[in-house]
Amino acid sequence: MTTPPAQTASDPAPVLSVTNLRKTYPLPGGTRLTAVDDVSFTVPRGGSTGIVGESGSGKTTVARMLVGLVRPDSGAIAVAGQARSARARGAAARLARAREIQMVFQDPYVSLDPRLTARQCLRTALRLHRRPEARGCTEEERIAELLDQVGLGAREADARPHGLSGGQRQRLAIARALAVDPRVLVLDEAVAALDVSIQAQILQLLAEIRAATGVALVFVSHDLAVVRHVTDDTLVMRRGQPVEHGRTAEVLAAPAHPYTRALLAAVPRAGWDPAAAAAAAR
Ligand code: ADP
Ligand code: MG
Repeated sequence: MTTPPAQTASDPAPVLSVTNLRKTYPLPGGTRLTAVDDVSFTVPRGGSTGIVGESGSGKTTVARMLVGLVRPDSGAIAVAGQARSARARGAAARLARAREIQMVFQDPYVSLDPRLTARQCLRTALRLHRRPEARGCTEEERIAELLDQVGLGAREADARPHGLSGGQRQRLAIARALAVDPRVLVLDEAVAALDVSIQAQILQLLAEIRAATGVALVFVSHDLAVVRHVTDDTLVMRRGQPVEHGRTAEVLAAPAHPYTRALLAAVPRAGWDPAAAAAAAR
């Protein structure tokens, strides 16, 4: 297994630093819709931050700006203290960015190539980024390690996406993201399409991966029941603006903003324990 990077409480540079991010879209009639307005947060090495809010609050726009799929109007994103230039274009810049921050989407059907088996999918990602050499192992060793890390067995390794269950497809999408050894994994509603027991298994898996690899998570979800179990910090968004930001346990125990209280009241599974649910489903 991979050795987790050394972590100390005094580690100064956050692995991800987001400052005053803003994004607007043109509306018919010449006005503009502010999708994201003045969002700032940091994630420490190996940390996990949740971004929650109702549909349309700007969560996906933040996630897409982090991975470079959407260009911010203004604001800054830095990874390990290095500013990411929104102007850095071209294949080389895209590859360099992808190596640092990877994204997992809600629907892996859309993001996985239907023609490739799980093994081929991981091989493609590894070749694109030339990662096994950097770790001193062979491509096949790294593929086996990744499959093992996300709990996919020999049968699944040779299956194509349509031959996998929803949970298995999401495991593959996570393995592919991990193939490039990113510093940060952005998950946008990554368990929203899954049954509750499968959700629990994926959340458990993410906790294990975080502990084993030290990858930092930005976990985007409309569902506070899900966010509470995988994040240290939570940023609550409403209409593009951050309304509350703090330690997840504190935000949920004593929400300061009425909007957060309303979100919490809408959670049907407030006492839900994914570890217990995952164990029960096994
Ligand atoms: P969430 O993920 O929280 O549901 P989004 O970030 O997807 O929110 O959307 C925030 C707002 O920005 C919404 O009002 C949405 O309609 C708008 N929006 C998102 N993407 C675009 C786009 N490409 N063009 C125009 N408006 C957009
Ligand atoms: Mg969204």
